[in-house]
Amino acid sequence: MALYAQVIIDIAHTNVDRVFAYSIPAEEAIEVGQRVLVPFGRGNTAKEGYVIALCEQVDVPKERIKPILRKAEGFAALLPEQVRLASWMAQRYHCLMVDALRLMIPAQIRGDRVHEKTLGVAVLTEQAATLQTVKAALYTKGGACKAPVQKQVLELLEQMPEGMAVTDLYAFLPGCNSAVAALKKKGALIIKDVPVRRTPYKQMAPGTETRPVLTDEQAEAFHAIEQAMDEPRPGQTSFLLHGATGSGKTEVYLCAIEHALQKGQGAIALVPEISLTPQMVQRFRSRLGEPVAVLHSRLSAGERYDEWRRIRNGQARVVIGPRSALFAPVQNVGLIVIDEEHEQSYRNEQRPQFESAEVARKRLDEQNGVLVLGSATPSVTTYYQCVQGKLRLLEMPTRVGKMGLPKVVVTDMREELKRGNRTVFSGVLYEAMQRTLERGEQMMLFINRRGYSTFVQCRGCGYVVQCEHCDVSMTLHKSSRGDFLRCHYCGQQKAIPPLCPVCGKPYLKQFGMGTQLVEEQVRQHFPQARILRMDYDTTQGKDAHLNILQSFGRREADVLIGTQMIAKGLDFGGVTLVGVVAADASLYLPDPRSAERTFQLIMQVAGRAGRDQLPGQVVVQTYHPDHFAIDTAARQDYKAFYRQEIQNRQIAQFPPFANFVRLLFRGQAEQAVRAAKECHGLLLQCLKEHNIVPLQLEMGYAPIARIKDETRTQILLKLPSGPQADAALDALYTLFYRRTWPHCTLTMETNPSNMV
Ligand code: ADP
Ligand code: ZN
Repeated sequence: MALYAQVIIDIAHTNVDRVFAYSIPAEEAIEVGQRVLVPFGRGNTAKEGYVIALCEQVDVPKERIKPILRKAEGFAALLPEQVRLASWMAQRYHCLMVDALRLMIPAQIRGDRVHEKTLGVAVLTEQAATLQTVKAALYTKGGACKAPVQKQVLELLEQMPEGMAVTDLYAFLPGCNSAVAALKKKGALIIKDVPVRRTPYKQMAPGTETRPVLTDEQAEAFHAIEQAMDEPRPGQTSFLLHGATGSGKTEVYLCAIEHALQKGQGAIALVPEISLTPQMVQRFRSRLGEPVAVLHSRLSAGERYDEWRRIRNGQARVVIGPRSALFAPVQNVGLIVIDEEHEQSYRNEQRPQFESAEVARKRLDEQNGVLVLGSATPSVTTYYQCVQGKLRLLEMPTRVGKMGLPKVVVTDMREELKRGNRTVFSGVLYEAMQRTLERGEQMMLFINRRGYSTFVQCRGCGYVVQCEHCDVSMTLHKSSRGDFLRCHYCGQQKAIPPLCPVCGKPYLKQFGMGTQLVEEQVRQHFPQARILRMDYDTTQGKDAHLNILQSFGRREADVLIGTQMIAKGLDFGGVTLVGVVAADASLYLPDPRSAERTFQLIMQVAGRAGRDQLPGQVVVQTYHPDHFAIDTAARQDYKAFYRQEIQNRQIAQFPPFANFVRLLFRGQAEQAVRAAKECHGLLLQCLKEHNIVPLQLEMGYAPIARIKDETRTQILLKLPSGPQADAALDALYTLFYRRTWPHCTLTMETNPSNMV
């Protein structure tokens, strides 16, 4: 038996980020992964901590070692492999050990804020003699019943050997409360606390759907995966499943997961967004039944806790969820699937910053498990890994069934304007909408901006209405209570000024369009159409996503208008038309991935059309029909896009050929500028020590120089890729990432997904 435990205290602070030794009380059995309460600090206050190792000896004098007070739970919250993963993450992503450990448990179990839910269940005592005596005492000598309600309760429970929930009992026999209390006091009945499971997506019952006959492409892909699972060879267990939308990738995942379960292994399937979870859960439950658990942040604390417990104790061996599901306590994980691998949500922006695919690979390496990344539009960096032989490529270019890919038409909006069309719909899209509605089919209209219009500008002097706290223009929103302006960065709202605050003229006009404007125009032109809108503003409620999607799925609406939320993974048989209202919105952003993002978005939305029996049509509206990203997306030619894009990146020295590192300083103007200058000096010195000449090094204001009244300065560094530069990068992280700057917040990111 180990005498000491190495404990990480549950306080996120650099100064506390090390192990503290505690002695294990003789009567306690403590395992690695156990959460414990320990005396900490001068006041010896009880703090929670994680046991990450056990040992026989410590190099601290014995008298200074304090004992563990008690366990936080009756079981070890973390698996030993999770503790190992956390240590790896702390090193790889330069985060605190406790930051990594906290990813592995539901937030509310810390601080004891969530528990098992129990239900009071009344059962009869097993002591027959007691029961007999109590029963007999209910009658007078003459045989009349003195307590008819107590008699009823006993008779009811006699028929219920499992007992009955007390609340049900009260409902069934109104007014029996005191009778129950009396019987309990006499020992005739006992009230047991029985754990109840809080189940997310209860309405999705497990079904008995069977596996369809796989297409040749599916069978080939699955066999390669199956073989890697059965006979894993190092370096041969990571796959990219490049399959067209509707080619049946999910089916391949399901087969692989079934195979893992047959082998007694666990599996994790990641989806990019919470809004996609219900669809996945539905499909997985109906195929795999009960062993499927769901984990994500929109579940109630209780549901999350129960799902997590079910996984921890092995009742659920398949977990679905967004990137956080990667840390679920699934035992013996043999397979991890990352669906729509190109999505940015697989990168954690907060500390610890991590890449899901990399963590997944690490988690699988212990037992040589299989990683499957799936996408119709793999990220350029992922595809490049395939080309280099680091990932095995599986291709499924054909859609399941007879349906080919939908027909895509690109319309040039410059021509529309010349023709005098000032609506948001090109002639082609307008006619297609009309036909779709006439036929009683459904359509999706995609516009990647919420609100009504993008900005409000004075046509007299050019002034654009800005947020008072951020250097950004405000967006016009409409509501039943009138129009107002809102800042999408800080949430600040204000009324639209009647006159231009600069030149005083009444020429303020809105420009650009958002989901609300599109909705309004559809209403104007097609008053008979039933419309649903899905964007940030309409999905704030707990089940809002699900409700909108289910309603559309039940065909309660003809038109679904939405932001990128509707672009991904959704599968509605009735949709035959997809309109990309403004394809250019993401094309000229200050971001090395803007071409890739535009291509992916168009491909993804286009993939929503014609998934069932009816052929699909896609209309892409753009001002840049000749741009290669739009052209290749319209032709749905991933490889053509990849060839051009990888060449561009090689020439421009963009990832994967180089890495951008951004240090962002936020604070009061002076401090933010000073910190940037100081760091610039340190950075130069560090690069020099590592003999690295940066490809680019700039210091200045961030593209948005002020958000929420904070000034934002930055250092933008581009490093060549390669081991030497990686070592320098590590050193830079050590230098900056964990340090705190006075009056200034420093964030450091490699290849940030948001450059503003
Ligand atoms: P993807 O994930 O590649 O977009 P899905 O797995 O969602 O594609 O499959 C698209 C549709 O085809 C789904 O409705 C699915 O049920 C159906 N499907 C997939 N594989 C088969 C198959 N082998 N036989 C019949 N239908 C299939
Ligand atoms: Zn603002």
